[in-house]
Amino acid sequence: MRCPFCNGFNDQVLDTRQMDDVSVIRRRRECLDCNKRYTTYERLEETSLMVVKSDQRREPFNRQKIREGIVRACEKRPISSDAIEKIVNEIEFELQDYVMEVPSKIIGEKVLRKLGDMDLIAYIRFSSVYHQFDTIDTFIEELKKLKKERLRKLPKPSQARMQNTG
Ligand SMILES: [Zn+2]
Repeated sequence: MRCPFCNGFNDQVLDTRQMDDVSVIRRRRECLDCNKRYTTYERLEETSLMVVKSDQRREPFNRQKIREGIVRACEKRPISSDAIEKIVNEIEFELQDYVMEVPSKIIGEKVLRKLGDMDLIAYIRFSSVYHQFDTIDTFIEELKKLKKERLRKLPKPSQARMQNTG
């Protein structure tokens, strides 16, 4: 990025933010030559990202396909279509770290992480569809980990009691 003040090319990104419109990214930058600060807005281009499948075949990234996979996993679960849309948007945003190719496994893991925070049944359905786990043992291990994480997020009973009695 060329500095608008001194035309220098040495800049440092101080802060990156996703705007409400997820296809726009705001970056706060500082020029390392003149130390002035400026802001850039980047609009996401239509992605040409290729997804590498486990058998090494490649196909263009398809947002709709990810969405359909999540919708199927969330069928009859108390998850709104807004929440699903949000997951897809977040994943698309996170995939900007990948320039040309992304392994399908990475996308699957991202979806699972988000579903795991939201709904255990949807999580299990999605992971079984995507054959994320080699054996039933690794799957059970994964579930245990998830359960532990969720428990950690809940307030501890002892703390709740202390607050109640003042
Ligand atoms: Zn400058």
